[in-house]
Amino acid sequence: MRAAVFKAAGRPLEIETIADPVPEAHQLLLKVHHCGICGSDLHMTESHSISQLPSGAVMGHEFSGEIVGIGTALKGKFKEGQRVAGFPYIQCGVCAACVRGDTTFGACTGAKGVGLGQHHGAYAELVTIGGNGAHLLPDSVSFEEGALVEPLCVGLHAVDMARMERGATVLVIGAGPVGLSVILWARFLGARHVIVSEMAENRRETAARFGATDAIDPKKPLTPQVEAIAGKGPDLIFECVGVPGVLNSLMMEAPRGAKIVVAGVCQQMDSILPVIGIVKELTLQFVLGYRPADFDYVIEMIAKDRVDVAHMITDRVTIDQLPAAFEALRKPTTQCKVMVGF
Ligand SMILES: [Zn+2]
Ligand SMILES: [Zn+2]
Repeated sequence: MRAAVFKAAGRPLEIETIADPVPEAHQLLLKVHHCGICGSDLHMTESHSISQLPSGAVMGHEFSGEIVGIGTALKGKFKEGQRVAGFPYIQCGVCAACVRGDTTFGACTGAKGVGLGQHHGAYAELVTIGGNGAHLLPDSVSFEEGALVEPLCVGLHAVDMARMERGATVLVIGAGPVGLSVILWARFLGARHVIVSEMAENRRETAARFGATDAIDPKKPLTPQVEAIAGKGPDLIFECVGVPGVLNSLMMEAPRGAKIVVAGVCQQMDSILPVIGIVKELTLQFVLGYRPADFDYVIEMIAKDRVDVAHMITDRVTIDQLPAAFEALRKPTTQCKVMVGF
């Protein structure tokens, strides 16, 4: 199969022909239809990353495809040709978390992340996934939408972890894919104000389509702008940027008692001034991934036209265009989700 292969930090991905993956007993082989480029993929290829990829790794963890091979233990449970969104995480089945049935992302101590360094991902024509990671797509969900399920689950899980109250005033920092997904679910699940702080005009427009009620200027103090709109400061602040310095500046900005949900993935050392959090009794909540049930919920909401998500895609590329598109995302950009089609 053809795949975009990681060689070394600082070098573009290379398109190569590598061996087709073979599904193990509890795995499925998918023909990949679409795969999104994720900001964490960019981070993983940077030299300062703490989650350095091995040379030869194939990334791609936001994907949809069609079943073309079925592991021996799954015969009769799946049919070739079934359309699925892939859960990019293969659980070991034997650790304490697996035995008690905990499918939360990060719980299994022996899990392999698909496209995250431990198992080849979907920047390739074929990918293998765990049988319980195949989330069937109804006909009313396109393959492109299927590849958006994963980033949409990231935002849904962040909103879940925030324990947001209905009527909340929510401030979202950054309207990239994670920010948009947080905006969508925060509004959908009952926030009164969902205010986005975002520089790029096109992303502000997309944020409005995803449910943002207002946009504010990131260069000016944030809380006074939120107060002017909502009559009070934010109850919840979602950090969806992942750049050093942002967390501390949000702690400085946050009103007393606020909760800051850290959804942006900063992979560098960063400083905070703890006393700021102490005097305001702030809560910092870090979040990771999602649960399988989130996949089913998001797929159903797309299938029933309760949410309209395709606007997240700003660019469509082929696998041959992927390495250049990937490098281009390292510079500041107004792009949102770049989708690779096969
Ligand atoms: Zn991702
Ligand atoms: Zn396990």
